[in-house]
Amino acid sequence: MEEKVQIAKENMDEKIFKLTTKDVYKKLNTREEGLTLQEVQANREKYGKNAITEKKGKPAILVLMSNFVSLMALLLWAGGIIAIVADMVELGVAIFLVNIINGVFSFWQEHRAGKATEALKKMLPSYARVIRDNQEQQILAEDLVPGDIMLVEEGDKISADARVIASSDLQVNQSTLTGESNPVRKTHDPIMRDGLSKSETPNLIFTGSSVASGTAKAVVVSIGMETEFGKIANLTQTMKEELSPLQKELNLLTKQISMIALSMGIIFFITAIFFVKEPIAEAFIFSLGMVVAFIPEGLLPTVTLSLAMAVQRMAKENALVKRLSAVETLGCTTVICSDKTGTLTQNEMTVNNLWLPGKELKVTGLGYAPVGKILYENKELYAENDEDLKILLTAASLCSNARIVPPNDESDRYTVLGDPTEACLGVVAQKAGIDTINQINLTPRIRELPFDSRRKRMSTIHNLSTPIGGCERIAYIKGAPKEVLELCTSINKNGDKQELSDSQRNEIMEANDRYARNGLRVLAVAYRHLTKECNLPKSLSSYTPELIEQDMTFVGLVVMADPPRPEVKDAVELCHRAKIRIIMITGDYGLTAESIAKRIGIVESNHPRIVSGVELEKMSDDDLKKVLKDEVIFARVAPEQKYRIVCNLQELGHIVAVTGDGVNDSPALKKADIGVAMGISGTDVAKEAADMILTDDNFASIVKAIEEGRAVYSNIRKFLLYILNSNTPEAVPSAAFLLSKGNIPLPLTVMQILAIDLGTDMLPALGLGAELPEKGVMEKPPRSRTEILMNKKTVIKAFLWYGLLESVIAMGAYFFVNILNGWPNVPLASSGIVYKQATTMTLASIVFCQIGAVLNCRTENESVFKIGIVANKKIVTGIVFEVLLISAIIYIPFLQNIFNTVAIGFKEWIYLIVLPFPILLLEEGRKAISRKLSRVKKVNDKRLVI
Ligand code: ATP
Repeated sequence: MEEKVQIAKENMDEKIFKLTTKDVYKKLNTREEGLTLQEVQANREKYGKNAITEKKGKPAILVLMSNFVSLMALLLWAGGIIAIVADMVELGVAIFLVNIINGVFSFWQEHRAGKATEALKKMLPSYARVIRDNQEQQILAEDLVPGDIMLVEEGDKISADARVIASSDLQVNQSTLTGESNPVRKTHDPIMRDGLSKSETPNLIFTGSSVASGTAKAVVVSIGMETEFGKIANLTQTMKEELSPLQKELNLLTKQISMIALSMGIIFFITAIFFVKEPIAEAFIFSLGMVVAFIPEGLLPTVTLSLAMAVQRMAKENALVKRLSAVETLGCTTVICSDKTGTLTQNEMTVNNLWLPGKELKVTGLGYAPVGKILYENKELYAENDEDLKILLTAASLCSNARIVPPNDESDRYTVLGDPTEACLGVVAQKAGIDTINQINLTPRIRELPFDSRRKRMSTIHNLSTPIGGCERIAYIKGAPKEVLELCTSINKNGDKQELSDSQRNEIMEANDRYARNGLRVLAVAYRHLTKECNLPKSLSSYTPELIEQDMTFVGLVVMADPPRPEVKDAVELCHRAKIRIIMITGDYGLTAESIAKRIGIVESNHPRIVSGVELEKMSDDDLKKVLKDEVIFARVAPEQKYRIVCNLQELGHIVAVTGDGVNDSPALKKADIGVAMGISGTDVAKEAADMILTDDNFASIVKAIEEGRAVYSNIRKFLLYILNSNTPEAVPSAAFLLSKGNIPLPLTVMQILAIDLGTDMLPALGLGAELPEKGVMEKPPRSRTEILMNKKTVIKAFLWYGLLESVIAMGAYFFVNILNGWPNVPLASSGIVYKQATTMTLASIVFCQIGAVLNCRTENESVFKIGIVANKKIVTGIVFEVLLISAIIYIPFLQNIFNTVAIGFKEWIYLIVLPFPILLLEEGRKAISRKLSRVKKVNDKRLVI
């Protein structure tokens, strides 16, 4: 380790920024072709892995202990001690055990939930592009070693500290190191000045920063903990997760319920002492039981667990959720702002048409295989026979960074490395008979003005092997037709350069609109000879877009199809039913966007409002809000404008999910309630800013995730309802005892209450957290943010409906045993076997009622028979455990002593076994009525609308 640090220090300290590229290579034992495999291995052994080692969090034992010192736990410790002092050793031990089990259980669940998210984070490895063995390769960022030649471009996260040796327009965001969020310019030239801090050195780039624009080649200097970022990480590894709204709500809920419990305890304590004249110690134990009965001990960990389970289910559906609490926010989403290319469409581009002045050509063949023909009036056309076609396709394919990969071991089809929009240009060039590799060698690229969603175009500058008219360099440009045409002053026709007339401009835009109306994506292509008269500066890095992109010659249009994803139409319909609006925000042309939006059902009106980026710029926030109330498509917008749209939607009260993939999307992704980054096409920066990452870039996966989000919230409510159900029947027997001044001997003891709350109720409740989304969950409007978990409906249902029902049944069971033994002719048994049988029956009745209740709680209004009464295996297991536990409490002598129970007879068992059915059937009846009422309401609503 010491040695490693030393080497890393040497690398940086020997003023690597002063060296020429050749000397940098020499210093790091590397070369232009990159390291060889053996060198990589040797360096890995020497320097280790490129990883930031995480400092261990709080020791597990401390986390475990923290579960034993909460207010409630302390109260229970005190209660246990008092019980032992008052000679109720069993109760004391039971309370201690409860406390310990509860603490360990909470710890285990938190730990498990934490592990689940940790594992998910690991599923997102970052990659780096390097040159090794003279080949460009994609490797895991953790496999980088000093000496590696690293390639970075806009949107990439930088994974090691490195010295830049070649760059084009490079700007880097170093906010993780410096806190300064404005990108800084970087270059590859040696820096001779001393006294600059490392982050200020213009030819050094650092781990953790991201490329805001441009491209670069850099030699890795230090990795892992030896990097500047590693040093900071070493000092500060204390990221604290903020509590989500749900966690806050749950904390509040637990406090509220604890207060209710405490108040109940105090009331019972006072009544027991003054009204029934119980001894103080007994009254205390008795009221402590009440407190314990009312507190939902397992609520918080169970919620975390059900969120974690949802996260795992979502991961299977291609949605990686980075923050647990995002799951719940997803459930409230009211608007999804989605981009088009790749999310709603397949991003599998195929060129269908080419447009040249005076000629429209058809292109056959599908996908990326270079198999197909270029047809003009049904006759095959090759580049070598048509100068215009040759210029168009040469320019288009040279002004591109994508590579086509022939079928190989990994895929039996032609695939693409890079942007599909660019890849299809190479394919169509090959279809026209152009040898694209040869072209690259003949006209090597010397500079790139990278694609930028704001400029909507990209240019490349090449050296010409044979100068044309004294020109040694040429610039090619491709991009959105409107943007490219604005830069053109001439047009290429039959190999000749002519002045571009207004009527020609109109003709080109008409052709563009015609294609766009059919949902096709159009790119315009142009070139410019860079003559000596241009006074072009010597240094290539001073070739700026402003300097190069002017006075261009228009060549033609390339028209490509990007069909909608097949599953998107259904997902859009589902959103409409769930009252979730979808707003398309795209960089593409309005008519293309409108056509696709109509095809997949995002817009229903014939003439939806299309707001362009330029229009949006001029619009006031008030006007924007008005526009947002109706159907609208945002087209030709820059990613930065998404941020404004999100802000305005939020001001209108919406919960907004936004998709994005570029660097400039990150403000909108951060601002949104749910930022959704694209896993395939997304940049690291976007992924970092997002709350959720779609591994398949697919819109339908967002909708699936929203469905899960809604299910999670309703599962938590189901769980809450279930555990609150048993509170009333637990309190009523004690109330009966107190109010009758002891004439009704206590039907349910404290130990028995604990047996329900911390024993029999627990596992079935956990099963509810794993319920799958209910069928109608996407038929309802989104939940309002102000809605609370313990709403009026839940309180009424838990405390009055189930509470009273179970109380009647439990008290009924108590009297049932007494009736079997001669009551009312003999007084209610207050001790002996009959009393024990009666209390055993009160306890067992509540347990059996809860079996019916847990099945009921699985759905809100749907019949449980319809969704399969035993479909949730976790609940079935829970019920089996519940029955085994209560049988053990009733029959095992040791437990009988603790819980004050005795064996019960055949008639009693019949009573118990029947119990779940009335609970189940009564609730099924209520659900049927509720379903009917909502159907009637729907019909009436429809009539009203008509
Ligand atoms: P969305 O925002 O829905 O994903 P998009 O991909 O069309 O749609 P941008 O990536 O912002 O949005 O692109 C804006 C416009 O720039 C495109 O409509 C296209 O005309 C042009 N364009 C896209 N990719 C390139 C590229 N690689 N080179 C040149 N121009 C491009």
